[in-house]
Amino acid sequence: MSGPLRLTFVQSASRVDQLPDSPVEVAFVGRSNVGKSSLVNSIANRKQLARVSNTPGRTQLINLFDVEGNRSEPGTLVDLPGYGYAKASKSIRRDWPEMIEGYILERPNLAMVFVLVDGAIGPTKLDQQMLDWLRFNVVPHTVVATKFDKVKSSKRSTRKKELAAGCQLDLGDIVWVSATKGDGIDQLRSLVRDWVG
Ligand code: GDP
Repeated sequence: MSGPLRLTFVQSASRVDQLPDSPVEVAFVGRSNVGKSSLVNSIANRKQLARVSNTPGRTQLINLFDVEGNRSEPGTLVDLPGYGYAKASKSIRRDWPEMIEGYILERPNLAMVFVLVDGAIGPTKLDQQMLDWLRFNVVPHTVVATKFDKVKSSKRSTRKKELAAGCQLDLGDIVWVSATKGDGIDQLRSLVRDWVG
């Protein structure tokens, strides 16, 4: 199957114990403003499924979407709250690691974490900490570099090498995408389908 993923919003949750059961799940995680909402909209070819916001850090909820595919019970795409928003309240900054780390470590059906890194500027220190933490806990993850269109064509090859090295990965391990221009979107859709479609 190809084309947009058929995503249906299920619910938002502020706590892991509020999440419904699901046969299999993938999660999207990344720094606030990395382009996560735009990417979720783009893989579903929808405009308003995930909220693209000019006030980052506002949505501090876990958002769940059913992924319609070939399963009798649909798999789930989980949009985790963005990390590292400087102006987020203290309680949000304090609770984020506990909530997200708890989710990632304790969710038995979680098959893959897609870690979004800003392709134009990443990885940031926080991205690197997230990757170290995932490696340390042996959590399967894939790095997705966003906003490919923002990297000038003359700089792309260098930027790809820099980003891969910053993530301690090989060039080919990284999926480059642009929600705005569509680069890499089909590739990401099929990776998501491989797990939950
Ligand atoms: P989130 O906070 O991670 O959900 O990020 P958003 O999806 O809200 O996007 C943050 C900002 O980056 C917005 O101004 C988007 O328009 C912009 N943005 C997101 N994806 C892209 C992209 O692929 N290319 C460009 N040029 N800008 C993007």
